[in-house]
Amino acid sequence: MTCSEGPQVPWCLFLDRDGVINRRIVGDYVRSWEDFEFVEGAVEAIAKLSVIAPKIVVITNQQGVGKELMTAEDLDIIHGLMTSAIAEAGGRVDAILSCTHLAASKCDCRKPSPGLAIQWLSQNLEVDPSMSVMAGDSDSDIVMARNLASAVGGCEAVAIGKDIGVDADFSYDSLEMMASDLAWASGRV
Ligand SMILES: [Mg+2]
Ligand SMILES: [Zn+2]
Repeated sequence: MTCSEGPQVPWCLFLDRDGVINRRIVGDYVRSWEDFEFVEGAVEAIAKLSVIAPKIVVITNQQGVGKELMTAEDLDIIHGLMTSAIAEAGGRVDAILSCTHLAASKCDCRKPSPGLAIQWLSQNLEVDPSMSVMAGDSDSDIVMARNLASAVGGCEAVAIGKDIGVDADFSYDSLEMMASDLAWASGRV
């Protein structure tokens, strides 16, 4: 790890949750902490990424709330425990932003819409929006990165895992691999 010389311009690493930080449950939702299982190496990866990323913000689609399979409070509890576990390992999550709406509601915060990221950036004006990075395991994450780039002038798209069918700027098998190869962070660290 090298230290940057001169003042570092704050930037934000946006992270998808399911399939990146915790195991995705195909066809269902993580409805409680009992359902939540960290991807191997993900907590340690976030601890590493916390050293280089001035901000780390999780952006997650949680339609299970809109479907009334779980409540917003259930989601808050999961996110509180997730954040604590990451903090215990020396990592940091600055914010967790969830779209809890139904896909059919056509809200402007459900990925691939960049609404949640744009809103957060508008509330954190010290952060350079055009230096954003978005990492996720679904096409909607990569498309969100492209949509964010169009809206704010830049965003690297990082594909995690093997389920991505659209072009990303960088691709890694896991968050652990992303944290150990910082090619994607060029110009930022
Ligand atoms: Mg995902
Ligand atoms: Zn929404």
